[in-house]
Amino acid sequence: MLEMESFCEKLPKIELHAHLNGSLSRNTLRQLGCTDDAILEYQSEQTTIEEVFKLFKVAHKATSTKKNLYLSTKTVIKEFAEDNVIYLELRTTPRKELDMTEEEYIQTVINAIIDKESPNIIVKLLLSLDRRRNHQEQSETLDAIIKFKNMYPDIVRGVDLSGDPAQGTFYRDLFEKARRNGLFCAIHCAEIKNNTEVIDILNFKPERLGHGTFLHPNYTSNAEIWNLYTKLQIPVECCLSSNVICLTSKSHREHHVQEWMKNDLPYCLATDDKGVFNTTLSKEFLHLQESFNLNKKDLWKISDNAINYSFALSEEKEMLHEKLKLWKIQNM
Ligand SMILES: [Zn+2]
Repeated sequence: MLEMESFCEKLPKIELHAHLNGSLSRNTLRQLGCTDDAILEYQSEQTTIEEVFKLFKVAHKATSTKKNLYLSTKTVIKEFAEDNVIYLELRTTPRKELDMTEEEYIQTVINAIIDKESPNIIVKLLLSLDRRRNHQEQSETLDAIIKFKNMYPDIVRGVDLSGDPAQGTFYRDLFEKARRNGLFCAIHCAEIKNNTEVIDILNFKPERLGHGTFLHPNYTSNAEIWNLYTKLQIPVECCLSSNVICLTSKSHREHHVQEWMKNDLPYCLATDDKGVFNTTLSKEFLHLQESFNLNKKDLWKISDNAINYSFALSEEKEMLHEKLKLWKIQNM
């Protein structure tokens, strides 16, 4: 029988919330020519959400050319595969750089996904709208996303809303347009306390929510929001280390995921920014196991459930469930 740490590493895992520019490891940053000082700045022990968005400048600088963006995407995929992630939804915000247009940015990331070396990982792309941009800018990005969704329907699966949650707006009409064009919606929601916006996002009924930190009344939400949420039961992507390091959760043990566990509500575990928070999906499983004394069957089930919440094609979902089932027979 595998010991718990080794079990978490070997367990085939599903990663549904990983930002490309936050997932760059120390090695990747070094390969991209970052100095040790820049690397130290990028990886934080403790920070706040506002500070995290400043750290991304290091990553944006490192991935500002097509060559480096391609290399980073390939390396991030390789590292997830080495952590036995068998299905990865990578997300990124298309951005204009001196070397590339927004569309070239998207194309470069897609090229790296197509050229991935590990046969053991399926990779999909979610493209993010940056909430700090205005309606016109977000709308233009969305048009580019739809264009690439039509060109690569098996790779470009969804749209995300991300960026500093203290700024910007959720434009429902843009997500309605994304949905009409066959894109799934995974939206960062209740990452900070903002009840009016949370109600707007919940009423839109995204396929998944990122974080959901302030949905439960114990975490300064209100009963109305929690009642609405429990009626909808939208899967939440829980990023334990990210929330603890950004100080929106006091500790792993006090993380809001416990309300989902107690109430049998849908959730998955995710890294958010494995480079910035110096974590892996295996470590996130271990944190949950240690904090709530879970057994191996519980952890296996979390992985298996995440397949259902993914934006994979239905035949891929079947194949992933089969893979998990087989692994269970051989290892548990
Ligand atoms: Zn995130």
